[in-house]
Amino acid sequence: MKPYKRTLLIIITALLPLSTSLAEDFVNWPNGAKAAVSLSYDDALNSQLDNAIPALNKYHFKGSFYLSVSNAPVYERLEEWRKAAKQGHELGNHTVNHPCRSSLPGREWVKPYANLDNYSLEQIEREIATTNAFLKAIDGETERTFTPPCIDDKVDNGKTSYWPILSKYFIGAKGVPMNLPKEQIELLMPSNVTGQQLIDFVSKAADQGHLASIVFHGIGGDHLMVSTQAHEELLQHLANNPKRYYVDSYVNIMRYAKQQ
Ligand SMILES: [Zn+2]
Repeated sequence: MKPYKRTLLIIITALLPLSTSLAEDFVNWPNGAKAAVSLSYDDALNSQLDNAIPALNKYHFKGSFYLSVSNAPVYERLEEWRKAAKQGHELGNHTVNHPCRSSLPGREWVKPYANLDNYSLEQIEREIATTNAFLKAIDGETERTFTPPCIDDKVDNGKTSYWPILSKYFIGAKGVPMNLPKEQIELLMPSNVTGQQLIDFVSKAADQGHLASIVFHGIGGDHLMVSTQAHEELLQHLANNPKRYYVDSYVNIMRYAKQQ
């Protein structure tokens, strides 16, 4: 055997155990789809009821709407959220007050009452449980998912992660590896992007068999806005390639992954 061939063989043999175990952990998506796609929308914003839900309904896609239940559009438009749930969209938990860590850079906007640095583990847990009860009163569901506000994980001045308690309350949580290896999850929080950039993101996930988890905020309005046109272009692309993409609410994707 020539020396370079021997080297190649050693490298391949060394990589095999790793790649085999990763492949075994990977979830295969329904009906041979190349990627699972979760379209989710945080913070309970008016532009989601006005623009995102009608667009999803047009293509018969189910999205996940993570409600911070003290936000005005929740109680001002409660019947519309209930109707969205009846249409098959998920109402997800995004806490009561949307607590984030004000000690991190760029967090001047965090209000003192919602400063996660000052929360105890018990406090965040009660807030999560309260939100689940509130959401159950709207949609009657007993199983749902969570998005950590700002994807922050630590309470008690950065000393303790609250993410370990999430599996007690949820079947899945965005940004937190549950039921899937973290290598199979791609997370995107877009703002001011083109439709093509969104399409490139899901397309790359499909090339790799991954879950494309998109966390939107405002659609055609509100904060971290994505235009209705870019959003529509993504939905059109997904609808045009039904064999390539399995699009569903996050709770349904997690139920499927858990069964595997
Ligand atoms: Zn949020």
